[in-house]
Amino acid sequence: MGRILVLALIIVLFFWVIRSFRRALKKGQEEARTPASLEGEDMVRCIHCGVHLPRSESITSEGEFFCSEDHRRLHLEP
Ligand SMILES: [Zn+2]
Repeated sequence: MGRILVLALIIVLFFWVIRSFRRALKKGQEEARTPASLEGEDMVRCIHCGVHLPRSESITSEGEFFCSEDHRRLHLEP
């Protein structure tokens, strides 16, 4: 009788481990799906049109950020 109880406990434990493992795997996949560029990099806003873009893709002039050379020119030239 004691052996059956131990066996049942092992089975329950086995399914519990699999379930938590699957949950961890699913969570890991969701995290991996997030693009690294959006997580690791600062987002800046074009002062001319308001679009958000990564800092490395922006144009900086006089402490302001722009999405393109055209917008930098349009904003700085009256
Ligand atoms: Zn712009």
